[in-house]
Amino acid sequence: MTYEVFDPRFEALTVSHSKLEKLWTGSRWAEGPVYVPAAKSLVWSDIPNDRLLRLDETDGSVSVFETPCGHHNGHTLDHLGRILACEHGGRRLSRLDFDGRWRTLVDSFGGKRLNSPNDVVEKSDGSIWFSDPTYGIDSHYEGDKAESEIGASNVYRFDPETGALTAVITDLLKPNGLAFSPDESVLYVADTGATHDPAHPRVIVAYTVGSDGRSVRREGVFATLENGLFDGFRVDGHGNVWTSAQTAVATYAPDGTLLGRIPVGEDVANLCFGGAKRNRLYITATTSLYAVYVNAHAAGW
Ligand code: MG
Repeated sequence: MTYEVFDPRFEALTVSHSKLEKLWTGSRWAEGPVYVPAAKSLVWSDIPNDRLLRLDETDGSVSVFETPCGHHNGHTLDHLGRILACEHGGRRLSRLDFDGRWRTLVDSFGGKRLNSPNDVVEKSDGSIWFSDPTYGIDSHYEGDKAESEIGASNVYRFDPETGALTAVITDLLKPNGLAFSPDESVLYVADTGATHDPAHPRVIVAYTVGSDGRSVRREGVFATLENGLFDGFRVDGHGNVWTSAQTAVATYAPDGTLLGRIPVGEDVANLCFGGAKRNRLYITATTSLYAVYVNAHAAGW
């Protein structure tokens, strides 16, 4: 069974005969998928193994893109098609420039080292928003164990023009995946604080973006899980939220209704839209990379 339909709207977002495909296996914790259209490739992280992997869509082959890499976690493409990376090992946000070199964008806040950037999104004004929980410094498994210098896990807005870094969200325990609605009026952020406090709500929180485009106000809980965690997610062109949800992908309408699920069978960490028409959902789930064609497209396609 590829789909669990809870709302008729989900059927319109799926392709009835499309099946979930397991494309590759062999990672310890697959994360950070980013589709690179110009290379017809998907790049993703295998965090404990300290490597980036690449799927070549033209022949389905998978190879190592970079190792060691500094325990990358989340990725996104910027407006010029460059990969932006959250690095646990380097405790920095970096960018893969056209000359093939990774360059630091930011690695400190108020003179203190970042914890371990986790996931990242670029806004249309060129600002880069990322979460900075402690997973990369909690142990030596996904980075290098260290104390948090900042003493908090925030969401930051980075301005590449000025180098300014601003803490925009400070009220979450472990902010993780994040994405804007298509019109950028809402910022969704997952809170995986239950990893450190089992009683902590397993939620995606919605924030309204202010008219200045850079401040946010907490709107409320957008989605809740009973068990497991929401980690990374993406928003499609109609504003539906496609998210990791324990061992499945779950799809929520912009009004917060759970429309349906795609069971995967392993803990899902993240996903992204890829393929020439951005209608192929790539899913990073623990040991493996999966994909399924859906009747939805990445925002902006
Ligand atoms: Mg994450």
